[in-house]
Amino acid sequence: MDREKMLSNPQETIRVIKENEFTFRKNYGQNFLIDSHVIDKIVAAAEIDKETDVLEIGPGIGTLTQYLAEAARSVTAVEIDDKLIPILGKTLSEYDNVKVIHGDIMKQDVAAIFDGKPFKIVANLPYYITTPIIMSLLELRVPADSITVMIQKEVADRMKAGPGSKDYGALSLAVQYYCEPYLAANVPPNCFMPRPQVGSAVIRLKILDKPSVEVKDEKLLFKIIRGAFNQRRKTLANAVANFEGLSFTRSEVEEALSNLGFDTRVRGEALTLEEFGKLSDELGSLKAGE
Ligand code: SAM
Repeated sequence: MDREKMLSNPQETIRVIKENEFTFRKNYGQNFLIDSHVIDKIVAAAEIDKETDVLEIGPGIGTLTQYLAEAARSVTAVEIDDKLIPILGKTLSEYDNVKVIHGDIMKQDVAAIFDGKPFKIVANLPYYITTPIIMSLLELRVPADSITVMIQKEVADRMKAGPGSKDYGALSLAVQYYCEPYLAANVPPNCFMPRPQVGSAVIRLKILDKPSVEVKDEKLLFKIIRGAFNQRRKTLANAVANFEGLSFTRSEVEEALSNLGFDTRVRGEALTLEEFGKLSDELGSLKAGE
């Protein structure tokens, strides 16, 4: 399609919105892209070619979808807003490799859509639900190669942060357990209609073949991580001992820490994912040996 006629041209977006009397729904996190350079960056970061099948979350009026349809073998787009479904029928009518599903991404059996075959996830995500969408895709271990998404800059920073940084926390560790994150671009509010209140970023999460650390009990690891960052200012031993989801005493956590050669007053933010893994196995074996 001629670029001038694509929805990345703000005039086209305004025309489609007016013609269809569409009103933006804030509760669905609707901020449509109106910048072709940003969309090119998303498609390039996702490394899409004519052998790629793409899952798009929240196509809106189809702005990113048009670019994905031109670059990929196929695009399956899941949109929750019923008012957008007839509009997508028109804006994507030129493409025979796009399928739109009307529904909530949180309720879709994503792996079944692709029959168990590999695919890539690409989206300008609705910001009200960014973290739940990404974490549920990762925890369900959907057979995707990568997730390339536009999200709030602040969330992107947390996803890629390492120990010692103020952004480092449970989200960094959860994402880095499953993926290798790469920040592809920072995006200012004027690239969207309407403009969001916050800065945005494009992040690519390359999903690892197996988790980046091996632990005996994955659930225990994530409970310890949640506990450690639940009370950031406390020592790790205190925070974990106070955490409702676990039943370790402070001295048990201190014992595990010193068995591993750590200062017993260490804080969670100082430990790497690998070190959390070791702590989890140590605490698990302390309990098992009771
Ligand atoms: N992809 C379009 C673009 O870049 O211009 C629109 C992106 S907009 C930030 C987010 C889109 O996700 C909206 O179209 C919204 O209606 C849709 N959405 C919100 N929650 C959803 C959900 N739970 N499942 C599927 N789509 C959702």
